[in-house]
Amino acid sequence: MFSEPVNLILAVTLAFFISSLAYKKESLSKDGAVAAFLLGSLIFGLGGIKWSVPLLTFFITSSFFSNLRKKRTNRMDEVFEKTGKRDFWQVVANGGFGGILVMVNFFYPNEIWFLLYTVYLAVMTADTWATELGTLKMRKTYNITTFRQVEQGVSGGVSVAGMLAALIGAAVIGLSSAPWLSNLIFLIPAITFTGFGGSIIDSFLGATVQVQYGCRVCGKVTERKSHCGSKTVRVKGLSWFNNDWVNFVSGMAGVFIFYIIFSAIA
Ligand SMILES: [Zn+2]
Repeated sequence: MFSEPVNLILAVTLAFFISSLAYKKESLSKDGAVAAFLLGSLIFGLGGIKWSVPLLTFFITSSFFSNLRKKRTNRMDEVFEKTGKRDFWQVVANGGFGGILVMVNFFYPNEIWFLLYTVYLAVMTADTWATELGTLKMRKTYNITTFRQVEQGVSGGVSVAGMLAALIGAAVIGLSSAPWLSNLIFLIPAITFTGFGGSIIDSFLGATVQVQYGCRVCGKVTERKSHCGSKTVRVKGLSWFNNDWVNFVSGMAGVFIFYIIFSAIA
């Protein structure tokens, strides 16, 4: 792939086109668009079509559902740390590991790198679909550790609709990589279930160690550092463990579980 300069130019052009379109559509912030351009160029350029399809599937569907939710309702934006617009660190948390894997695969080609890449993306997709589709309508949401009903959109909250969206999102990533998989019967369910499992770990981390703030004006619990025009105070969790860390750790957990299963069976 890399030895053909036309492909590299094509990769950079595609990455530029997609990141600037996403910036215009407000799916990415300015620094988020820069990160997406660099990461996209790297993955499209070194990985070719095979590595590009699952990444584009994640990015296009997630941006689509984020925009859909934004149009339908603005009420979640006061709870989430970050609104539908992805910033630099969010892009890195979602795709940085994929950038590392595509480089490792370039120098030490092995099928496992692509599989770990799809699993990581399956976790990211499951989490994003669960968040965006699970909060599209008013639904009963429960804290994953206490099973008490919580406000929609709060970290660690799960709903039936959200979990179903997570499962389908992970399956869609598995299916998007199907043309390049050697054993569909084993690998697609394995990617789907570890992707879904990773999103459950994501909710668990969100309910336990993720930093949460309280609004001093309205009293709401939020991921945001300011609310109702005033600074919020930390009420629980580790101060540095924000949503980007939750995404990264849950993605790595999914990758780890997949690798254990893969090593045991394959
Ligand atoms: Zn408030």
